[in-house]
Amino acid sequence: MSSPNPITATLIPGDGIGPETVESTIQILDALGSPFLWDVQQAGVAGIDALGDPLPEQTLASIRKHRLALKGPLTTPVGGGFRSSNVRLREEFELYANVRPAKTLIPGRFENIDIVLVRENLGGFYVAHEYYIPVGDDPKAVAVATGMNTRASSKRIARFAFEYALKNGRKKITVVHKANILKLLTGIFLDAAREVAKEYEGRVEMDDMIVDACAMQLVLNPWRFDMLLCTNLFGDILSDQIAGLVGGLGMAPGANIGENAAIFEAVHGSAPDIAGKGVANPISILLASAMMLDHVGKQDLANRLRTAITDTLNIDSVRTRDLKGEATTKQFTDAVCKRLSSR
Ligand code: ATP
Repeated sequence: MSSPNPITATLIPGDGIGPETVESTIQILDALGSPFLWDVQQAGVAGIDALGDPLPEQTLASIRKHRLALKGPLTTPVGGGFRSSNVRLREEFELYANVRPAKTLIPGRFENIDIVLVRENLGGFYVAHEYYIPVGDDPKAVAVATGMNTRASSKRIARFAFEYALKNGRKKITVVHKANILKLLTGIFLDAAREVAKEYEGRVEMDDMIVDACAMQLVLNPWRFDMLLCTNLFGDILSDQIAGLVGGLGMAPGANIGENAAIFEAVHGSAPDIAGKGVANPISILLASAMMLDHVGKQDLANRLRTAITDTLNIDSVRTRDLKGEATTKQFTDAVCKRLSSR
C-alpha cells in the first residue's frame, strides 16, 4: 500500500541482526500502509565494507536532508581507531534526548510495567576523555576518565522530559543521579532538573533517587515509576534493566531526538550470536518504527501497529525464541502482516 503523502526517511539496515529485523519492519510497515519512503544507506561494519567508513559521508548527507532515520544496530570494530558510530551520530545531529519506553506486552515475571526512560544523550562519561598516567616503568599504570555535564544541557533534557510528560499524560518524573558521590557531575543534573520542575509544578511531579537505590526499586516495586530522567551512563544501564522487566532486549525500542534530526532504533546491539540465523525478535525496531510514526503525527497508524504486535503475541501466540516461542523472524513478520490485513 502506498501513502498519498509520502515522507522520505533514511534507512540504515546496520550490522548483525540489523538487516533481518529491518527487513521484517519494512514488510510490516508496507502492510500497514505507512507514509515512509526509504533512502537506504550503510553504516557500521556494513559501511566499512561498502564505502570504507563506518559512518560514510553519503549516509550523513541523507540524514541531514531528511532529518529522520530508522537505524539498525551498528557495530564499532574493536581496535582500528574507530569511534562508536552511534555516539558520532548523536553528536553530529545533536540528538540530545534518548527516549526508551518499556511496556509489558506479554504476561511475564512483571505485569503492567509502563515506564518511559529519558536519557541525556550527549554528556556525562560518554564524552569519554580517557587517558593513562605513567608511573615508573608502566606507561599505563593509572587510567583516568573524565565526564562532563553542563547546566544548559541538563536543563534542556529536563525540559524535554517534562514536555514529554505533558504531551503523553505522564504524571511523575524520577531524576536518577549519584549526587552523594559524584556531587558535581550528577549534582548539576539534579539541580537543573529541580529548577525546571518548578515551571511544571501542579502539572508534573518530580522526585529523585540515587542510581543504586533506583536499580533495586526497579526490581522490588517497578510500578512506583512513571518516567525516569537519567544522565547518559545511568540511562544506558537502567534502560537495559527496564527492558529486562518486559521480556528482554527484543522488546525495547528507542528514539534519539535532537534539534536537527530524529533517529529511531532498537535498544539492543547487533547480537552477533544469533545474526543471520533468522531467529531474531524484530519487535524492538518495530516498536521504534511506531515511535517514528508518532513523531510524524501518525498516531493512528502507530496504534494499529502496536495492536497488531500484541495480538500476534497474545491471541495468535506467535513468538520468537527469546520470548519462549518457536517462531522465526519471518513467521512472526508474516503473522503481524496477516493481523494487519485482517482489519
Ligand atoms: P552492544 O554492545 O552493541 O550493546 P551487546 O553485545 O552488549 O551489544 P546485544 O547485541 O545488545 O548485546 O544483545 C545481547 C544479547 O541479547 C544478544 O547476544 C542476543 O542473544 C540477545 N538479543 C538482543 N537483541 C535481540 C533480539 N532482537 N532478538 C533476540 N535476541 C536478542
